[in-house]
Amino acid sequence: MAPVWPRMRSNAVGVSRELRVSLREIDPYVLAPRAAALVFLAGGLLALAVGLVVPFRGEPSIGLIAVVAALFGANAIAFPWPRFGPRAQLALPVFAFVLFAWGGVLARGTPEPYIALLSLPFVFVGFTQRPGTASALAPVAAVALVVADRFGFDATLMSTGVFALPMLVLMGEVLAFAQARRTQAEARVERLLEAVRILARVVDQRTAAQMVASLSAEMLDADAVAVLLADRAGSRRLLNRAFFGHPALANATPLLVDALGAGGFDAHATSFITDPKGVRTFARAASCVRSVATVPLPGAGATPIGVIIAMWTAPRRRLHASARQAAELLSEEAGRMFQRLSASAALTHEAETDPLTHLANRRTFARALATMQPGDALVLVDLDHFKQVNDVHGHQVGDQTLRLLARDLQDTARQVDCVARYGGEEFAVVLPEAGIDGAQIMLGRVRRAWAARQPVATFSAGIARHEPGRPPRETLRLADEALYAAKAAGRDCDMLAVDPEVEVVLP
Ligand code: GH3
Ligand code: MG
Ligand code: MG
Repeated sequence: MAPVWPRMRSNAVGVSRELRVSLREIDPYVLAPRAAALVFLAGGLLALAVGLVVPFRGEPSIGLIAVVAALFGANAIAFPWPRFGPRAQLALPVFAFVLFAWGGVLARGTPEPYIALLSLPFVFVGFTQRPGTASALAPVAAVALVVADRFGFDATLMSTGVFALPMLVLMGEVLAFAQARRTQAEARVERLLEAVRILARVVDQRTAAQMVASLSAEMLDADAVAVLLADRAGSRRLLNRAFFGHPALANATPLLVDALGAGGFDAHATSFITDPKGVRTFARAASCVRSVATVPLPGAGATPIGVIIAMWTAPRRRLHASARQAAELLSEEAGRMFQRLSASAALTHEAETDPLTHLANRRTFARALATMQPGDALVLVDLDHFKQVNDVHGHQVGDQTLRLLARDLQDTARQVDCVARYGGEEFAVVLPEAGIDGAQIMLGRVRRAWAARQPVATFSAGIARHEPGRPPRETLRLADEALYAAKAAGRDCDMLAVDPEVEVVLP
């Protein structure tokens, strides 16, 4: 029996989405307030239990604090924290300080355990709040200490507090900073995954390059990014395909490209140059560019398909490891995408063009013919006595003649026209909205250009206008008839199609 393989998820995006969902379940912003609430509840219950065994020294109302802490904890566990955002969670440390001050007032002479408890709100703030929050909370903690000292604790509290508080604030800040960095890196990865998903669907190089430029600027936190791509596969000539960011840096890009072209960078690894004034290669561009990073876009072979250049207007000390990693992941994905795009563009080009003349081939012409609208013109061009050209001058001269006429037709036509090699020595041009007049003007230009070449052969042409309700095939047949008429009339001339629907009244 054939083995039955477990169903495997083939795409990384699906897996990463699952991972993110499971990560969200242990999100500190969701988990931390619950954990803190549990500490209030457990602390309160524990204090009550201890109070039963060892009755509260001197002050039985300390049991009241234990009850309040436990009740607060029980409610805070059930509270819908995620609905209110991280700032609302500051209620937890502030309430801790209130309890601390109140406890200090009541429990005379035992400050040490309270000092230990003072660290917990700072740990909480470090995990859940922005950097700076622990410092902002220090005065609240100081007030709690002063209140506790004034009404209860002995003198050691203040000296311990003065020493402990800055340390606690520092710990809170370090934790918060680490958290912020982690969150930033996570957001970057999230953005990267989204980018990869979008890039997989992009179909044209220009849009793709523009996207890679803006995404790289985001990943590297750069002031500007240029995306350069090789002019063709395997070439070392880089062309600027997209620019994103500070306009002043757009002018610096060509200079940097020259510098890169001169071999001033490692084509295979990310490089980072800070304050390029000191680096000769970038000296000319350095008037506004103070730091540069280059990330290669890997190609199919050893030569990269291009490079991402990130620029900063202020000198940067270094490139953060997580930013570099994100940019490299992006460049790998982008390199693959550009390879895919250029391969499919090459295939499309091959499928649509004639290899000898590089004009549209017969298949492409058939598409243009099928979509002709009334008022469009169709021109058929055929070289005269071309068989003799081959016989007298040889096949190579014949080929060259075909290429030259193809170029004249293409150069004369407009962007919207479809110029195709229809058969051996026959060409077809679809001219949208040109009418007979437009087609004649175009042919007049072609004839002048052709005569200037002193060619070995002349050509004849047939012109037809596409009429409403007429099948395109019929317009083609009429143009062919007109071409035939031009041949019959002695060649080297243009003929208009005779409209079959115009009645000819015989005298
Ligand atoms: P007419 O003026 O009536 O059009 O005469 P013609 O000789 O041009 O017409 P015919 O159809 O008899 O011959 C076309 C010639 O075109 C025959 C063929 O050798 C030549 N031909 C077709 N394709 C190519 C090509 O790719 N290269 C070259 N060199 N010659 C070609
Ligand atoms: Mg011919
Ligand atoms: Mg022919």
